[in-house]
Amino acid sequence: MFDYDLPSVSSSPSSSSPASNFSPAPLKLKDKYRKSGKPYQFVPSSCQVCFGKATGHHYDVASCNGCKSFFRRVTIEKLVYKCDNHMRCYNDFKAGDKIPKCRACRYKRCVDVGMNPLESQVSDLIKNLVHLDLKTNKFRDCSYNPVDFPTLKEAVKDEISIIGYGDRFGPMPGWPLAPEVIEEARKPNPNPGTRKILPANVKRWLMYDLLTIVEMAKTFDFFNKLNEMDRYYLCRDTTLMVSNLTKAYFSVENKTDQLIRADGQTLAPPPKWIPKEYMDKLLLDIMKRAISTLIRMKCTKIEFLLLRAILLCNAAAPDISSTARAILQTERAKYTVALLNYTMANHGLEGPGRFAEILNIIDLLERQQKDQRDVNVFILLYRPKHVKLPLLDDVMLSFC
Ligand SMILES: [Zn+2]
Ligand SMILES: [Zn+2]
Repeated sequence: MFDYDLPSVSSSPSSSSPASNFSPAPLKLKDKYRKSGKPYQFVPSSCQVCFGKATGHHYDVASCNGCKSFFRRVTIEKLVYKCDNHMRCYNDFKAGDKIPKCRACRYKRCVDVGMNPLESQVSDLIKNLVHLDLKTNKFRDCSYNPVDFPTLKEAVKDEISIIGYGDRFGPMPGWPLAPEVIEEARKPNPNPGTRKILPANVKRWLMYDLLTIVEMAKTFDFFNKLNEMDRYYLCRDTTLMVSNLTKAYFSVENKTDQLIRADGQTLAPPPKWIPKEYMDKLLLDIMKRAISTLIRMKCTKIEFLLLRAILLCNAAAPDISSTARAILQTERAKYTVALLNYTMANHGLEGPGRFAEILNIIDLLERQQKDQRDVNVFILLYRPKHVKLPLLDDVMLSFC
């Protein structure tokens, strides 16, 4: 599991906090002092709870592994103990004494010396993201396979997420797709001018990928605090980036630098009406940038999940109201602090650099989105009138 042994920064979304801007501001780590103002002992010698040998700073306090695990267990499992001695077991406790057995007082002692349960809330935050990721992937992989898709405005109108379809529908049969099925799906439309019919277990990924991200976004508490227009604006300028990041990480997890689909397809050859130069630019350059960066950085799952949450709380999305902006900034600060703590705990002195490097991926994703939209302007000139791509046209700003 993960240790959060290092100091956390203030989580208030003030303008100087690294949490408040996509481009990482210079880090203002309070690494010499904790929130109480007391200096950290950087080489702690004894556990401030039991005077045993400290192994580091756990939950904001120099402590031993035993006291760290004790505090974690009590906090996470919300255990309640009773003391038969009016909570006085540690009153005269000093170094060298036998450690009192009372667990109620040991927990009180942990809190009294400053152990901070917020640190374990951070791991709850990550656990929730891991859980949501499983649900999102289930939705992606399930047998729900709509032919008609809503527009983005329609999709965000309903606050209830359909991400649970993943459980209801169960996995899509026949994945990875057999070569014959892929070949069938890629045949030219026998009735040009009408909508192409796909084999039953082939999804319309251009739209389904985006729908997946919108339905995932709806499961975040903050999302339902936004009004309908703010939900629309947020998704219009964030869904494509979140989807690109998600697809890139999927490739990385599957140890390839190519874009691949969950059904086992590599990218389909584009329809004939798209000039090859645009498609090459899109597929060989623009779409692959995020993948190569994640591979080079050896981005971990937790880093990916936190980055995706930060990206989703896009307080910089154009046109959203100031109320929405404030809500998103607060949310983003939460995930940004969690990412900082995570990188600090896992990379020590390299932590801040790692943190900045991960946040820089957001710049890359923003450029990628802009380039995709630019290429789309040209592709649109060639697109037959009957081809309808709801959701995709919304996030590409096709008809704005
Ligand atoms: Zn201890
Ligand atoms: Zn006691």
